[in-house]
Amino acid sequence: NNYTREDILRMVEEEDVGFIRLQFTDIFGTMKNIAITTSQLDKALNNEIMFDGSAIEGFARVEESDMYLHPDLNTFEIFPWRPQQGKVARLICDVYKPDGTPYESDPRYILKKVMAEAKEMGYEFNVGPELEFFLFHTDDDGLPTTLSHESAGYFDLGPLDLGENARRDMVLTLEDMGFEIESSHHEAAPAQHEIDFRYDEALTTADNIMTFKLVVKTIAKRHGLHATFMPKPKFGINGSGMHLNMSVSRDGINVFQDAKDEYGLSKEAYCFIGGIMKHMKALTFITNPSINSYKRLIPGYEAPVYIAWSAKNRTPLIRIPGSRGEYTRVELRNPDPSANPYLALAVCLAAGLDGIKQGLMPPKAVNRNVYEMTDEERKIFGIEKLPGSLREAAIEFQKDTFIQEILGEDLSKKYIEAKNGEYYEYRIQITDWELEKYLHLL
Ligand code: GLN
Ligand code: MG
Ligand code: MG
Ligand code: MG
Repeated sequence: NNYTREDILRMVEEEDVGFIRLQFTDIFGTMKNIAITTSQLDKALNNEIMFDGSAIEGFARVEESDMYLHPDLNTFEIFPWRPQQGKVARLICDVYKPDGTPYESDPRYILKKVMAEAKEMGYEFNVGPELEFFLFHTDDDGLPTTLSHESAGYFDLGPLDLGENARRDMVLTLEDMGFEIESSHHEAAPAQHEIDFRYDEALTTADNIMTFKLVVKTIAKRHGLHATFMPKPKFGINGSGMHLNMSVSRDGINVFQDAKDEYGLSKEAYCFIGGIMKHMKALTFITNPSINSYKRLIPGYEAPVYIAWSAKNRTPLIRIPGSRGEYTRVELRNPDPSANPYLALAVCLAAGLDGIKQGLMPPKAVNRNVYEMTDEERKIFGIEKLPGSLREAAIEFQKDTFIQEILGEDLSKKYIEAKNGEYYEYRIQITDWELEKYLHLL
């Protein structure tokens, strides 16, 4: 899309749009919005709509709480599930300060900043995400449960797959909103699904991830189901990941390919992997930002635990999918859908670029199952583990000043504070597991 102000006004008129939602994302990845009617559209397009930033978690301090929304015209989209008269449309916005400069802790701004740096090196950054989610039943009060009647598995079809109709509706709605859906399927665990859409330049992809989650949740609700992107909602079955397929191009040509190389990868691709691996432990704090994230990153459920890469094997953290040429890409498998997509893509790109700038070659590919190795063998190969908890990830993040600088001092500080708080709150809970384990015994 390449919309002008006139295009927006015309579409709003022609399509009988009644409401416009001005969306943005807080630092923890939650979508926020202000709704306006068309009477305020001029004002919105003049970047004059204001909100109180101090009311948004992780946003401004009280003294500087006035924030302005600058709509990105190219993100104009109509919600197909809303009424057809007086339709509802949305515009994704950038957050600005009263002095007319971008707000430094706006996640979308942080991603744009890293992308601008890539552009200076002549690079464009493309990302294709694979989002997984569960569809659960709601209770009599309409509240989400972790129950499902279905017992389908990987690639199963109806009538086993009770989520099939909901998933079909999600795909059609996303297509209505301009998504190119590449595939959708039942995932390995009962009630678990995946819908994959086409890769795009990173900012568009991050916007798309936010829209995707909203659509999936909305359509699930219409089918009486609750869609959750919680990384590990149930013990003993697979959790939900958000694999990121990343590539870098120059003038529209993928620079990760090199037909002469044994794995078909260029120097840039190797160094990008090298950079990601160098910063991996700190990145995890952003790509896996909840307490629950670390219950997914355990052996036995197709989620990564060890920091290694492979061109052949699926078990490592970083994999090179089979396709080459224009589709040559690096798949990072630890991110989960609880991550703020703007920040996750920003730190991944920054780490990869750091690798390219410094010519960091990654360690040798590990083309064996890392889970079947002994501790000794992993040590010989220099294979380390991802952080085992949100607390460990926070500590690693605090050691990596490069990644902190990418996010900025203000956001890094607020993020660490909030996540440490979350960890403390969790740490002092008395869980069912403890009661079952100890109550009768001790
Ligand atoms: N659900 C797995 C995860 O947690 C991935 C499964 C797959 O896509 N092969 O990452
Ligand atoms: Mg997949
Ligand atoms: Mg999958
Ligand atoms: Mg994948």
